[in-house]
Amino acid sequence: MTTLPQIAPLADGTVPPHGSTYYSALRQFDQAAAFLGLDPGTRAFLRHPRRELTVNFPVLMDDGSLRMFTGIRVHHSTIRGPSKGGIRFHPQVDLNDVRALAMWMTWKCAVVNIPYGGAKGGVVVDPALLSERELCALTRRYTTEMMLMFGPESDIPAPDVNTNPQVMAWIMDTYSMQKGYSVPAVVTGKPLEVGGSLGRLEATGRGVTCCILEALRARKQRVQDTTVAVQGFGNVGSVAAALLAERGAKIVAVADISGGVTRATGLDIPALKAYARAHGQRVAGFPGGDALTNAELLAFDADVLVLAAMENQVHDANAQAVRARIIAEGANGPTTPDADVILEENDCLVIPDILCNAGGVTVSYFEWVQGLQAHFWSEEEINHRLERIMTDAYAEVMDEARRRRIAPRMAAQTLAINRVAAAAKLRGIYP
Ligand code: NAD
Repeated sequence: MTTLPQIAPLADGTVPPHGSTYYSALRQFDQAAAFLGLDPGTRAFLRHPRRELTVNFPVLMDDGSLRMFTGIRVHHSTIRGPSKGGIRFHPQVDLNDVRALAMWMTWKCAVVNIPYGGAKGGVVVDPALLSERELCALTRRYTTEMMLMFGPESDIPAPDVNTNPQVMAWIMDTYSMQKGYSVPAVVTGKPLEVGGSLGRLEATGRGVTCCILEALRARKQRVQDTTVAVQGFGNVGSVAAALLAERGAKIVAVADISGGVTRATGLDIPALKAYARAHGQRVAGFPGGDALTNAELLAFDADVLVLAAMENQVHDANAQAVRARIIAEGANGPTTPDADVILEENDCLVIPDILCNAGGVTVSYFEWVQGLQAHFWSEEEINHRLERIMTDAYAEVMDEARRRRIAPRMAAQTLAINRVAAAAKLRGIYP
């Protein structure tokens, strides 16, 4: 087993445990900062979240009982602009994970060069166990508690795991009610009817697809000759699978929290989407393929493995089994630093999360700009601008990797950290 060195403690003296998401984020940052030769002061500044808010709040449940929930929001950085990042509703939401995800948002916005810092938030809850009314009440109370953090000029949330356009509409409405006027630019990923952007729902999956097509083009591999395995069949995974299938790739395996399905001749993705919609967003049991586990999916003999579920899926214990030649990180942090070492040794190209899944925040930025201007663009224009940004960022990261002889993740991180460090230097330290 490859063992990575311990990382330095944070300002409060704590060190996140090895293998945790925050450990991964800090370890990646430390490696990139050391490679860049960043001075110790700037390194410490960029390593810490700017501010954090944890709230405990009550929700009146349908049965008349009162239940307490914990919500979190972390602003990692506001150096390059307002902070931006999704909100997840998940039973395992944890402050350290949110810190990691907020830090990755800072680097992600910098990789695609959009004028935002990074944030992330969440509520510790399994939304599948709540009624629609309870979910709405929870969202409204969380938003009210977060009035200190959210704002169209300060911090703009968006969807993440288990949150969707309806949840964003409730956030927009709650914030607007507190202000006394409509503020559509306070949140992105909204439905079109309340100021959402065309193309936002598909944007992350479209960006992932764009990166995979660029990787195949560089290898002179035809899309039609390419097999793909996809972990996660939600907003990101299902869109990437559908777009790749449309381009002629064979989606030979898909898995989600419920298990997976495989078909050597390629799964019928529209039929799988319809099946998942009718079965609580689950793919297990789909009649158009054979059953498969998540472990089998990760080791599947496909050209491309799309990781579009959760953090820490490929780690030191299973990285050796990965047979794909290209990993596309639709999820945030799906590959641990230990796994990165093994994958690099095995000559597997990892398209890093902060590049690969940046399509979502890019179109969120378009939505914010459209909202501020109250002037909306066509879907064609949005997709065209998105593809240009993703293709340019992909080329920039891969050029940097080649030029400096480093892995694409390190290249993406160094490009991003350099941009944030340059902005910090120009702004200076207040006062
Ligand atoms: P989602 O809730 O729509 O879908 C998540 C999918 O992952 C579901 O199919 C679920 O069943 C599956 N899943 C969850 N836990 C799993 C596990 N332990 N094993 C296997 N499958 C599991 O979420 P999403 O919006 O598609 O987000 C997926 C990932 O992409 C997350 O890491 C998220 O942070 C990241 N991401 C999302 C966006 C976006 O715009 N939605 C943007 C950038 C990054």
